[in-house]
Amino acid sequence: MAPLYAVRTTGIVCRVGCASRAPRPENIVWFDDLRAALTSGFRPCKRCRPESEHPQAVFRADVVARARGYLRLGLSVRETAAHLHVSDRHLRRLVKQETGGSPRALVAS
Ligand SMILES: [Zn+2]
Repeated sequence: MAPLYAVRTTGIVCRVGCASRAPRPENIVWFDDLRAALTSGFRPCKRCRPESEHPQAVFRADVVARARGYLRLGLSVRETAAHLHVSDRHLRRLVKQETGGSPRALVAS
C-alpha cells in the first residue's frame, strides 16, 4: 500500500499525490497505513480520500459499469473499448479482473 502523509498543523492525512497544498516538510508525519494515522488522531483528507478504495479499483469498477451499459445497447466489445478509451485487450482484462468473466457475459449480468 502506498504510504500516507499526515500534516501536524492541519491534523489531516493525505495520499501521496493529493492536490491540496504541499505542507512544509517539517510538519509531515509518515504512515504506512490509514489505521495508524487515525489512531494517532489524524482525519482523512476530503480531497484525496485516503479512506476510500484504491484509485485503480475505482477506475476498474467504473470502466466495467460503463462497458456493461454500452454492450447492453448493442455495441461490440471493440466499439465499447473505443468509447472507454482503452484497448480491446485491456477492456477484456479489466472485465475479467472485476467479474471473472468475459465482456459478453456482462450483458446478461
Ligand atoms: Zn489530501
